[in-house]
Amino acid sequence: MLEEIPRAGVEQVDEAVARAGGALPSWRRLSPGDRARALRDLAENLEGHLEELAVLEARNAGKAISDARGEMGMVVETFRYYAGAPERLLGDTIPVSGGQAFTVREPVGVVGLITPWNFPLTIAYWKLAPALAAGNTVVLKPAELTPLTALRFAQIAAEAGIPDGVVNVVAGPGRTCGQRLVEHPGVAKIAFTGSTEVGRTIARGAAESIKRVTLELGGKSANIVFADADLEAAAVAAPMAVFGNAGQDCCARSRILVEESVRDRFLELLEAQVKSLRVGDPLDESTQMGPLISAGQRETVSSFLEDDVEIAFRGSAPEGPGFWFAPTVLAPVALTDRVAREEVFGPIVAVISFTGEAQAIEMANDTIYGLSGSIWTTDGARALRVARAVETGVLSINSNSSVRVSTPFGGFKQSGYGRELGPHALDAYTEVKTIFYATEEQ
Ligand code: NAD
Repeated sequence: MLEEIPRAGVEQVDEAVARAGGALPSWRRLSPGDRARALRDLAENLEGHLEELAVLEARNAGKAISDARGEMGMVVETFRYYAGAPERLLGDTIPVSGGQAFTVREPVGVVGLITPWNFPLTIAYWKLAPALAAGNTVVLKPAELTPLTALRFAQIAAEAGIPDGVVNVVAGPGRTCGQRLVEHPGVAKIAFTGSTEVGRTIARGAAESIKRVTLELGGKSANIVFADADLEAAAVAAPMAVFGNAGQDCCARSRILVEESVRDRFLELLEAQVKSLRVGDPLDESTQMGPLISAGQRETVSSFLEDDVEIAFRGSAPEGPGFWFAPTVLAPVALTDRVAREEVFGPIVAVISFTGEAQAIEMANDTIYGLSGSIWTTDGARALRVARAVETGVLSINSNSSVRVSTPFGGFKQSGYGRELGPHALDAYTEVKTIFYATEEQ
């Protein structure tokens, strides 16, 4: 056991919403310069706690310490980026007859943040930083399995001088605390990251009061490898594109679509990479992949191997205690197989071959999801054609990159709606108001 914490219930959610509502008027009225300064101070304070937060996150979620360090580095960058926002929340002046019209951005109000267990603090700060920058106050409900870094964040925010009631954390179950946030009349918006199934429930619940909602949901992203690609580079990158965070990543490229003519060569190169992956103790500096989050998750992931599928090769995983699961490559896989259609959220990748660009695009789009993906080719025109045709919110060419602080991130189709990060995230945490000032008799 890492730590024992009290389980919050709906009364604590109500209290937190009341505190957030109480803090809203003064936080939203703070001058843009003062709000920017408060966020910069928070970033600076977080910087002094990076190693502590990384170790806590690695234990919290069982993730490799090297990954946790990377995620915590981005926390500071994110708060610094959005510290620039309060003074740049610009409006428009619009020519109209009889006067002058212009727009201003208002905060939405009290925002409920509901987050998953795979990137516990990362996904929270993607929401916290733009929400606070825009003048909202928040109630954050972390996932039941991973509340520790969110709770520590709230303490650090208080030490950094963020006023009481602006950031509230309620660690409790989704079905009680999460649902109460969705139904609470004092909450103006829900920013949710999690499964498509729970996202659907939240959208339904929020419809009752026309609450604003943004949803970052599941994925089934494709890693498309064309015959003209630098196959070695593609094979080096492919394992961590799906096995990073033990495959518990919404951006996991869990379908490798490879051009038929280079399939065997690519699999050979991939095998060497997968077999050399270092799977083990999350706190070991050399570990690339830790265990799965829970026994339940291991059961879910294992169920995909009970289908009629063919294992091409696997990496290794430690024996003994821990929810270990060896990185697994399935080939050949048909697009109709369950493993090619459902989000696995574990270290299994399906290799599917295609012939020609048109079929690659058709296969990449043959999914209800549309979050991320990669294209490997040395033909620049093809890369751009395919990038435009694939229905996902983010796509990288000759790279695994999905997330940067300054670029928008979010899904097409059932991967959700709304965008996080970049300037677009501010749209999700502001309302546009039009003001008309009469200059002539009406
Ligand atoms: P989940 O949907 O089970 O839970 C997410 C959060 O919702 C948790 O805090 C949970 O307590 C809460 N919740 C559960 N039921 C609720 C309800 N009825 N009302 C309100 N809140 C409720 O997801 P998870 O298992 O924690 O995370 C894995 C999922 O998250 C995967 O599908 C993954 O793809 C997705 N995810 C998406 C992104 C993205 O940015 N698109 C990022 C990370 C994870």
